[in-house]
Amino acid sequence: MMSNDDTARVKNSSRVNNELISIKNVSLIYKSKASKIPAIENINFNLYHGEFVCVMGPSGCGKSTLLNILAGFIKPTNGSVMLNQTEIKGIDWHRGVVFQNPPLYEWFSVRKNIAFGPMVRKLPKKTMKEQIELYLNKVGLQEFADKKVYELSGGMKQRAAIASALINNPEILLMDEPFGALDALTREQMQQFIRTIWWSSKKTIFFITHDVDEALLLGTRVLVMSKHPGKIVADFQTDFTKSIIESDSDNVRYSERFHQKRNYILQLINQR
Ligand code: ADP
Ligand code: MG
Repeated sequence: MMSNDDTARVKNSSRVNNELISIKNVSLIYKSKASKIPAIENINFNLYHGEFVCVMGPSGCGKSTLLNILAGFIKPTNGSVMLNQTEIKGIDWHRGVVFQNPPLYEWFSVRKNIAFGPMVRKLPKKTMKEQIELYLNKVGLQEFADKKVYELSGGMKQRAAIASALINNPEILLMDEPFGALDALTREQMQQFIRTIWWSSKKTIFFITHDVDEALLLGTRVLVMSKHPGKIVADFQTDFTKSIIESDSDNVRYSERFHQKRNYILQLINQR
C-alpha cells in the first residue's frame, strides 16, 4: 500500500529535479585496421533523478554500446556524457551495472560476492557487515547467504547481482537485458521485484530490454533506437508501472491503451 508521500511521488513529474545524466551529441565508431563500424550516432538525451528508463531497439542497434559508455567502460568517439555536471571518464561506484549473465564468483558464497564492493571500497568492518545483511535482506536472499553462487537459480543469481550493485549506493543502475535469459515465470517475478526495488530505493534505472511488454510494464519512460548507426527515434514518458504500484495489480496490461502503445513501439522497431 502507498503512503500519502508515495501518492505525491506518483503525481509529481519525475523531472522536478535537475538532470542526473546529460548525453550530448554522442557518437561511437568501432575502429579496427580493416573496418570502421559506426555503432551509435548523435545521441542526445538527459536522464532525470528517479526515472526508470527502458531502452528498446533491434538487435545490433547500439543499446549495449550506449550502456557501456554510460558505465564508463568505453569512451565515445564524439560528444560528452556528464553525471551531475562532471564528465564520465571511466568506471566508478556511481554507476552500478547488471548484465544478462551476472559476473559473480560462482565458487564463492552469495554473502562474499555481495561483500566484494564494500571490501574494495574499504568500508569499516562493522558498517560493511550491516550493509551486507541489509542488502541480502532487500533482495530476499538472507536464507541463501551461505550458498555458493553455482547453487542458485537464475533469478536468485540476478538478485545477488542487483544487491552487489546496489550496496555501493550508485546514482544509477545500468541494466543490460538483465532478465533476458530467465524463464517466463521467473522473469515476471523479477520484473515485480525490480519495480519494487526501484520504488522503495528511489534509484534511477537505465534498463535495456528486447521485450516490449517488459519496457511498458516497468518504465516511466521508453527510448526506442533504430539501427545502423543507432539513433533515438522515440522518447516518451509512460505511467503503466505507476498504475501497477497504485492498484497493486498488473491488469493495466490488458487495457486498450497498453495495446496501442505496444503496437506503436513494435511498428517503430519493425519499420527500420
Ligand atoms: P545491441 O546491444 O543493440 O545489440 P551493440 O551495442 O552490441 O548493439 O552493437 C552495435 C553495433 O556495433 C553492432 O553492429 C555490433 O556488431 C557492433 N559492435 C559492438 N561491439 C563491437 C566491438 N567491440 N567491436 C566492433 N564492433 C562492435
Ligand atoms: Mg546488447
